[in-house]
Amino acid sequence: MSDAKPVVTQATLVKKAAPKTDFKPAGVSPSRRQRSYSVRLWSVRHSRFLEWFYARFANVFLMLHPVWKWLGYHRAEGPVTFLERNVKGLMFDCRMCGQCVLSSTGMSCPMNCPKQLRNGPCGGVRANGNCEVEPDMPCVWVQAWLGSQQMRGSDAILKVQKPVDQSLRETSSWLRVTAKAAAEREAAQNAASGDVK
Ligand code: SF4
Repeated sequence: MSDAKPVVTQATLVKKAAPKTDFKPAGVSPSRRQRSYSVRLWSVRHSRFLEWFYARFANVFLMLHPVWKWLGYHRAEGPVTFLERNVKGLMFDCRMCGQCVLSSTGMSCPMNCPKQLRNGPCGGVRANGNCEVEPDMPCVWVQAWLGSQQMRGSDAILKVQKPVDQSLRETSSWLRVTAKAAAEREAAQNAASGDVK
């Protein structure tokens, strides 16, 4: 029989030391969170399929570039952001950081890390793979590693991510990626036509 004592983390000590009051924020209900974890974990388990699906979805958005341009990207942003928030909110608990890295993080959103780490886990991951700060939540970076290893682009997780640009919060990653891909495509076409002349 093992006589190893459970590890008491710094976060547990801070929580225990906090004054007890009658106020308990609704958003911290473990049962409510468990439900959203189950969808989030499903997405990680199906990261390969979601990677395949997203590649096609991004192509459709890119094909629609003339439509976005005609409408004006700024006009399209409201409805597209609404759709993105709801779809990704359901599937990934997306926090709308506006600079999505799901393709590099095994379809596990790093903004769900309580420390919002974008480049791997902190040193406090529990032995069962759960979060130091929220003991009932699987560590998003443990999940990111598991999800990324099923994906074709499994090495993308090794890429160092830039710090979050807070000015992009609540904006659409889908439109940003589309506009960037369209600009790159146009630049490549211009370069090719320049070579021909
Ligand atoms: S990385 Fe940002 S945009 Fe992507 S799911 Fe997470 S919060 Fe949403």
